[in-house]
Amino acid sequence: MIIIKLLIDMDEVICDFLGELCRRYNQLTGAEIYPEQLKQYDLTSFVGEIGKSIFLRPDFFSELKAFPHAVETLKKLYIEGYHLIVATDAKGDSHVAADKKNWIKRHLPFLPSTNFIISSEKHLLDGDLFFDDSPDVLNWFSGIKVVMDRPYNKEVKGYRIFNNDWLQFYSLVKSLTK
Ligand SMILES: [Mg+2]
Repeated sequence: MIIIKLLIDMDEVICDFLGELCRRYNQLTGAEIYPEQLKQYDLTSFVGEIGKSIFLRPDFFSELKAFPHAVETLKKLYIEGYHLIVATDAKGDSHVAADKKNWIKRHLPFLPSTNFIISSEKHLLDGDLFFDDSPDVLNWFSGIKVVMDRPYNKEVKGYRIFNNDWLQFYSLVKSLTK
């Protein structure tokens, strides 16, 4: 099996979206919520309108932290000749789209802008492998599914990456490419 084209999600795969959202939500409201409590892929019932107003604030997405080893692994795979596509949903918001683009420019400067796709229909993208946390995207994708393990995607069938372990993802890609 040869895997060449890798589709990679941003939020909860490359970027620590939920961690930052919870941190800011708690700061603002005095609540104590944490990412592992999100059992369904639905932010509305988790953080409601307050949460939405937090992540739609300018700069929220451009300031997110990458999970450990995500950036170096992507760079390594790119240098090794894999066709990397970062595919993300900007929730229909132009500020979010601009913030995400800035994030990519700053953290993955080697990635050509043509390899960054903003879409709400990610499952329609063509590739050999999709690394995502969204049950919808993964369930509809017809290639190899790699699931970033979360409480809300336990039912999704595919290879599973635990603890945001990008070194495990790298090993998986290498083992599938052999
Ligand atoms: Mg995601």
